[in-house]
Amino acid sequence: MSFIVQVSYFAAAVLFIYGLKRMSSPLHARQGIVWAGIGMVIATVATLLHPALHGWLNFLLIILGIAIGGYLAWITGKKVKMTDMPQMVALYNGMGGGAAAAIAGVELVRMEEMSTTVQLLAVIGASIGTIAFSGSLIAYAKLQGLMRSTIRFPKQQYVNATVFGVLVILGLIIAFSSTYSMNTLSVFFILALLFGIMMTIPIGGGDMPVVISLFNALTGLAVGFEGFVLENPAMMIAGTVVGSAGILLTQLMAKAMNRPISNVLFSNFGDAPSGEGQAVTGSMKPIEASDVAIMMAFAEKVVIIPGYGMAVAQAQHKVWELVKILKDRGVTVKFAIHPVAGRMPGHMNVLLAEAGVPYDIIYDLDEINEEFPTTDVVLVIGANDVVNPAARTDPSSPIYGMPILNADKAKNVIVIKRGKGTGFSGIENHLFFGDNTRMLYGDATAMANDLVAGVKEI
Ligand code: NDP
Repeated sequence: MSFIVQVSYFAAAVLFIYGLKRMSSPLHARQGIVWAGIGMVIATVATLLHPALHGWLNFLLIILGIAIGGYLAWITGKKVKMTDMPQMVALYNGMGGGAAAAIAGVELVRMEEMSTTVQLLAVIGASIGTIAFSGSLIAYAKLQGLMRSTIRFPKQQYVNATVFGVLVILGLIIAFSSTYSMNTLSVFFILALLFGIMMTIPIGGGDMPVVISLFNALTGLAVGFEGFVLENPAMMIAGTVVGSAGILLTQLMAKAMNRPISNVLFSNFGDAPSGEGQAVTGSMKPIEASDVAIMMAFAEKVVIIPGYGMAVAQAQHKVWELVKILKDRGVTVKFAIHPVAGRMPGHMNVLLAEAGVPYDIIYDLDEINEEFPTTDVVLVIGANDVVNPAARTDPSSPIYGMPILNADKAKNVIVIKRGKGTGFSGIENHLFFGDNTRMLYGDATAMANDLVAGVKEI
């Protein structure tokens, strides 16, 4: 490999790591994406200069692939709604896994001189890349509403275990023999595709973000393994970084939902709402925006808890406007973010950063939970499950054990939502019936607008 290509791959790998580091805070996450993007451009250009790239046809095919893929990604990336982001990630991630598997496929079909270790790495990369490909496409179809949330049948886990067992045996045959047939290789890939589908169809739509994160990690690892096969350091490092970051993210998401990964993969929690849990007594008490405006304007401390409804309404800009005028009046305002608020990790942080909310007034669950008893007004905007005290108090509730934001402990709680709709888990929220809670019914943006007008009038 020429010196310049080597140096370029190294520079790209450094930029990937630096970009990832910058992405660790919403303050400079955008810059992180730009840096990693520059790394990708360098890696791509270096590949075009690679001495192993023989002939104009290969060159043109790569350019054509980049043009078609780049155009489609540009169009879909521009159009996608923030709330549809998880399925978009699933789709792109599936493409990454498929690409890694295709590289492995080409190398295994060529059957060129490879050491057993490299051949084994190619097989591992091929299987996990293929599983991530078909599994991610199923995840996409579920989140996009193209297929039923769960498909289950008797003895499903045994069938899956059998498919996986045969896949492993074929993989070992391919890895340790130099004379495997094309039929064996084809059956190996078909089984890997099948296993990706089979392991994803029984998992409920609600658990899909966790599953997508897991597939994302698998895709990264597949790319890393293929990097070893191709002796490409940029792929090795980028793949390993994505793989380890994906595994960490998967663990964090499962932890935030207070469930082990095995429970996500092999239980049915994320299925359609179960509607279980203790019956709630009392009634929801409505309030007018003008009264809420007065409460907030004369409060010392206000904590805002955004949730999925704020994302649906795209209310973050209006909410930030409200916060600014409250702060101008001397009110202390903080945002409290639950790790699984919304429908993807960091969903609320991304929206607030987009609206220009400074990071130093955004607090994580652990940082703010102690503060609720001394908070005058908690404003819950389109959040539901993440503030449901049943998670703390009702062992029969499906969300029992999930850490929540203790909004119910504040002096006054105002909840903005459109009606009596339940949250993602489908269960009633005890918070809404509390003596200290008032419901401000309406769309999050419209209500934030009314609050801004109300506070300005005071
Ligand atoms: P929820 O889904 O629990 O509740 C959202 C609430 O927003 C609903 O009660 C709805 O009530 C209200 N709402 C919807 N649209 C609007 C609107 N336009 N204006 C005002 N309100 C609106 O949201 P949370 O963020 O509290 O919880 C997230 C849930 O998603 C958790 O159960 C979590 O486990 C799950 N989840 C999250 C993942 C993540 O990575 N973040 C991944 C997988 C699952 P109404 O219809 O009455 O308006």
